[in-house]
Amino acid sequence: MTSATDVAVVGGGITGLAAAWELAGPRGGHRPVRVTVLEAGAHLGGRIDTLDLGGRPVDAGADAFIARVPDAVALCQELGVGEQLVAPAATTALIWSRGELRRLPEDTVLGVPTRLRTLAASKVVSVAGLARASLDLVLPADTSTDDRSIAALVDHRLGREIRERLSLAATAPQLDAARCEHRSLLRGLRPAERAPTGAPTPVFLTLPGGPGQLVQTLCGALAGRGVELRTAAPVEKIERDDGRWRLRTPQGMVTADAVVLALPSFVAADLLATQLPAAASDLDAIEHASVVLATFAYPAAAVSVPPGVSGFLVPRVEGRLMTACTFLSAKWPHRERPGQTVVRVSAGRWGDDRALHLGDEELVRRLRAELDDALGITASPDAVVVGRWPRAFPQYEVGHLERVARIRAVVARQPGLAVAGASYGGVGIPACIGQGRRAARDVLDHLAVAAQR
Ligand SMILES: Cc1cc2nc3c(=O)[nH]c(=O)nc-3n(C[C@H](O)[C@H](O)[C@H](O)COP(=O)(O)OP(=O)(O)OC[C@H]3O[C@@H](n4cnc5c(N)ncnc54)[C@H](O)[C@@H]3O)c2cc1C
Repeated sequence: MTSATDVAVVGGGITGLAAAWELAGPRGGHRPVRVTVLEAGAHLGGRIDTLDLGGRPVDAGADAFIARVPDAVALCQELGVGEQLVAPAATTALIWSRGELRRLPEDTVLGVPTRLRTLAASKVVSVAGLARASLDLVLPADTSTDDRSIAALVDHRLGREIRERLSLAATAPQLDAARCEHRSLLRGLRPAERAPTGAPTPVFLTLPGGPGQLVQTLCGALAGRGVELRTAAPVEKIERDDGRWRLRTPQGMVTADAVVLALPSFVAADLLATQLPAAASDLDAIEHASVVLATFAYPAAAVSVPPGVSGFLVPRVEGRLMTACTFLSAKWPHRERPGQTVVRVSAGRWGDDRALHLGDEELVRRLRAELDDALGITASPDAVVVGRWPRAFPQYEVGHLERVARIRAVVARQPGLAVAGASYGGVGIPACIGQGRRAARDVLDHLAVAAQR
């Protein structure tokens, strides 16, 4: 009988779980793979989690994923929950701009307006800002493959005012893809053409229980495929010994033929510092921003949410502590709480750690004051919960693509080693799933070649 190959996945976030799913998939004719996921924390899912708000769960971080990057929808379908996917009931985002809440131009994708008419109607930017944005339609095509900052790209195509008021440090690869595929950003980011039925394709989707349901379903399916899921198992050291990888955990040594490091880059840097110092220094150089979320349950009558509105965004130039507010009850009515309206306020972004350094009480006090000002709330919330996400959002600075290419090149020279996750090639859930699965295929290819020798 053929003996199994051992693969360890370090990190039980969505990237690691997706890698494990790919590794444990049907392997027609190849050596079976025994997969172990080693997760440092007490729960699987990493940055996808739920919190208790007044006795009921709320999404602690992600509440949906973008539909046009297909990997999350595809995974839901493979797991048999594709039919359950739901689109938000409210999709219109407002913006706190120039002293009041205004409608974000329709057709805005990732902070970039796609039609001048709606941008003008929104009054979010000044007349001069509007005139500058219109130049995007006539500026020459931009098909360079250099890695320039999103800010520089938006500045160049649409002008600084659009970036300051609309572009939300969008780190998604869609922006860059649109730049290369279309002459104009305005045209390239328009939602997909309507289907013949007339139904627009939703931009975002989620499962009825939020992204946490995807994690739960995936973990159940992984267990069904024989994957060992270990929590409270932080990997403290990785070394190569006698042709195999040895991973030290507080519970003992785990030995594997291949390893997927599905970790934030700064953790991977620590683990690889001794063996791969150059890669470790590149890994360490990827900066991450911290965010804090305060989720409030208000008596329903206390908050008046305009119909169809999902929330509002607060550009940095406004100088407020809050960066965004999501009307969770309006967005996801299927998760309704009778008599209550749930509102989530985000704070913190790159270069602004004020929220992270405030205690819960002061943070809630200040965010409530800003919320009351924007929405005219006079009542107190029934419940509030604060979630802190230190170093959660990687910053894809200029040179990121080259840096990641260097890291991957060094890592790929190590037998059966791969890195994947939000720090590298896309922050969104679909991008993480795609990266996890690709890393798994890379190590499977390595194992197949090694087996021929
Ligand atoms: C507040 C917030 C809101 C978000 N909203 C959205 C959204 O609406 N839509 C969307 O698509 N994306 C959203 N994201 C982004 C998305 O959730 C993340 O990018 C994604 O979940 C990251 O997955 P990951 O597996 O790469 O990393 P992580 O989830 O960070 O997983 C890495 C795992 O490694 C573990 N680990 C660390 N060190 C060790 C060690 N030494 N040994 C073993 N394990 C270790 C960690 O505990 C963690 O579980 C949001 C993120 C945040 C923080």
